[in-house]
Amino acid sequence: MSYASSILGLLPTGRRAIGITQLINKLETYLPPERVEPIREAYEFGAAAHEGQKRKSGEPYISHPVAVADLLADLHMDGQTIVAAILHDVLEDTPMSKEDIATRFGADVAEIVDGVSKLDRVQFKNRAEAQAESFRKMLLAMVRDIRVIMVKLADRTHNMRTLGSMSPLRRRAIARETLEIYAPIANRLGIYNIKNELEDLGLKNLYPNRYKVIEKAVKRARGNQKQFIGKIKDNIEAALEKAAIKGRVEGREKHPFSIYQKMRRKKTALNEVVDVFGFRIVVDSIDTCYRVLGIVHGIYRPMPGRFKDYIAIPRVNGYQSLHTTLFGPNGMPIEVQIRTEAMQQVSESGIAAHWQYKEGSEDEKTGHDRAREWLQHLVDMHGGNSEEFLESVKVDLFPDKVYVFTPKGEIRRLPRGATAVDFAYAVHTDVGNRCVAAKIDRRLVPLRTPLRNGQTVEVVTAKGAMPNPTWVNFVVTAKARTALRHYLKSLKSGDAAELGKRLLTQSLTELRLSFKSIKPEQWTALAADFNLKNASELFEKVGLGERLAPLVAQRLIPKDSAVSQPHESGPLAIAGTEGLSVSYARCCFPIPNDPIMAYVTTGHGIVIHREACGNLKSFRKQPDKWLSVVWQPAAGKLFNVEIAVQVQSRIGILAAVASEISATQTSIERVSIIERDGGVSTEIFEVMVADRKQLAQVIKRIRKMSDVVKVTRTLA
Ligand code: MN
Repeated sequence: MSYASSILGLLPTGRRAIGITQLINKLETYLPPERVEPIREAYEFGAAAHEGQKRKSGEPYISHPVAVADLLADLHMDGQTIVAAILHDVLEDTPMSKEDIATRFGADVAEIVDGVSKLDRVQFKNRAEAQAESFRKMLLAMVRDIRVIMVKLADRTHNMRTLGSMSPLRRRAIARETLEIYAPIANRLGIYNIKNELEDLGLKNLYPNRYKVIEKAVKRARGNQKQFIGKIKDNIEAALEKAAIKGRVEGREKHPFSIYQKMRRKKTALNEVVDVFGFRIVVDSIDTCYRVLGIVHGIYRPMPGRFKDYIAIPRVNGYQSLHTTLFGPNGMPIEVQIRTEAMQQVSESGIAAHWQYKEGSEDEKTGHDRAREWLQHLVDMHGGNSEEFLESVKVDLFPDKVYVFTPKGEIRRLPRGATAVDFAYAVHTDVGNRCVAAKIDRRLVPLRTPLRNGQTVEVVTAKGAMPNPTWVNFVVTAKARTALRHYLKSLKSGDAAELGKRLLTQSLTELRLSFKSIKPEQWTALAADFNLKNASELFEKVGLGERLAPLVAQRLIPKDSAVSQPHESGPLAIAGTEGLSVSYARCCFPIPNDPIMAYVTTGHGIVIHREACGNLKSFRKQPDKWLSVVWQPAAGKLFNVEIAVQVQSRIGILAAVASEISATQTSIERVSIIERDGGVSTEIFEVMVADRKQLAQVIKRIRKMSDVVKVTRTLA
């Protein structure tokens, strides 16, 4: 909105759509021809892409992006921003891809358009106030280039201007979101022109009646006080001239939203707020600002306690000005702002000022450079010593956090690089300990997937499920790491001892002895022989494979016993819930119902292999290291298994197979691709299944796909 219309605090109705010719004319006033040319091309490209689409108002769709670009042209934004503004809805609403944009208009523009599209997909669901704050941070954290936010703010401004064609319900929802999210962001970045318009339009659409009342009161007050305003202005101008000061004196009326806010905050009546007149005096230097302050205090008596020096102590977003309130004619309060031309410019465009077109500026600096420049500017202004201030701005612009949603729409803040497992532990230790799979934006993903801003994360837990020791390798939060270590530690000794007892029972049976027949003293004595504290430590060592059960059992044979031939006992039962003491070989990926054997390692418990596994060859060489084992039914535990899918190579085939797998509620842990010649490639998926039945379902489903040549389970 132009200053002329905003100064009245009134929004022109029946605004005419901005044409491309007008936009080009405006751009030519500050951009060189070689920067304007790509904008013209972007228009052709965008108009063709949106061909046939109409806005709710009935206008051709392209009128909207052009209007958005026009708003940014008012801020004198650089050429790339304008091009991105014209293309900002192309990815969402047309078949054009990011690559198409990158090819024609460069990677920077493609990144901005992509960023805007991503922001559009994030929905603000939960309306708590703290939530709004987090949501704003999430939006800012999502953008790598602050120009994304500027395009988004301009987009929202134009959408707010054209809300009329929406249903009242929709209108209110958008207005509320604008007031809670977008206006504060514009404020944070110091883009006051956009902030003010968003606020006024927000109020107008959220509370149409309140807006009308305020609007009317403003009009009436202006009519009543017309001659006073002229007189005050004349007085100030005369005083400046007498002191030989060059400057502009502007009448400044309040925005409806700021009046509304003041009424609420100070609990004052409408008339009291409306009957306050504002003037802005813009001069050439800071020095002059203070001189002008003295002069106006000489004309009208200042109101005690109302002077504020935002030049010496700027606002967080960089806003600078002197504020004072005077007693005018008839005791009418007059608010005066005194600032330099540069301060005036910052107050209108804030951070955007750093993106305004300057000779040669577009190619040299990255988005981060410019945001840093702005930050540095703020730091300098604040004397560089306000750490708290610096932190508050840095958090917004250089986030080291990710913000994600819970399925209920609550926002969680996690450190950068946090995974689904970190999220699970952040929700609750139990959730972390029992998580078996994660869904991000409703898609199953591997638990180790790093989270990104704006995603909705859902943790799938299962009764009896246990943490996987390998998680320690990728979790980043202290909470997850601590909980995991704690859990594994407690699990290790207890579970290993339990497994040790079972292994010993089996070995003893082979020797025609029973576990029960061994007396506690015998265990204690044997433990002492091995230099161990007690029996449970012995069981633990056996469970961990540091002591071999058959050898330990041998030592318990009574001296007089004539055991000769060990007899076959039943195999050891494996449920998959043994924790660290039992692991599953990654050469053959055994799953329940597979015929299996167990290899007894030294120090790492036992490893389960499929009988078909090539590694069983060593079985014959060291039979004492192998145990016969069987599956014991257990619910809830998932097992890793690998499948090889041979496909006709085409773009998107990997995603297509992955989505078929996900459709069976099976989570994918890892994917790798082996490229082949002749248009055929093999994709290896490591998935998690409960048993052979689930695996069969997955394989069956993939086999049905037309581009799939062959599906097999891998085997070393
Ligand atoms: Mn749009």
